[in-house]
Amino acid sequence: MKGIREEIERVLIAPQEIAERVRLLGAEIARDYRSGAAKDPYGRPLLVVGILKGAIPFLADLIRAIDLPLEYDFMSVSSYRNGTSPGEVRILKDLDRSIAKRDVLIVEDIVDTGNTLDHILRLFRARSPASLRVCTLIDKPVRREVDVEVHYVGFTIPEDVFVVGYGLDYAELYRNLPFIGVLRREIYEEARVEDR
Ligand code: 5GP
Repeated sequence: MKGIREEIERVLIAPQEIAERVRLLGAEIARDYRSGAAKDPYGRPLLVVGILKGAIPFLADLIRAIDLPLEYDFMSVSSYRNGTSPGEVRILKDLDRSIAKRDVLIVEDIVDTGNTLDHILRLFRARSPASLRVCTLIDKPVRREVDVEVHYVGFTIPEDVFVVGYGLDYAELYRNLPFIGVLRREIYEEARVEDR
């Protein structure tokens, strides 16, 4: 079997840059929740919610950089891109427990048009958490269609490129790359030919 690194045109963010940024984000989150962001009336630990599957590597590293008591849980939604219309996301796997009156930090892989996150935020708000914040690994503001509030951003990508690696996929592949990069054009084009 061939390796996957040769299918990458360029590396945008190297593993060391990711590690350093995650360390700083974790420290910032810990500082904020120690001094004011926490509103759970019973003082329960921060609940970090990863959105499957893209957020997995990021969440795994981030939680180890947050020096606070915390719990984590996961939700899986079908993106409107895969067949659903832009008015909805479908829950494929719901949270294990209630988030009512909890301090919730949603961890996302990427915010692009903002549609997916907007729908996720509506779902969460309807469940009355004590506080709700969002941390995304990547923000692509050039493509934004919906104004969503993101409190913590790992990296902002100023151009409209499709990135893979460190959890981000193309056709379910490349999530295991240790860096964030841009796929070679041939990979998309081959797939388009196969689709015909
Ligand atoms: P939205 O456009 O709703 O903000 O993003 C929806 C989803 O599209 C993201 O959660 C992600 O799965 C996918 N997506 C958007 N931009 C990219 C990208 O550059 N690379 C990858 N791998 N997925 C993306």
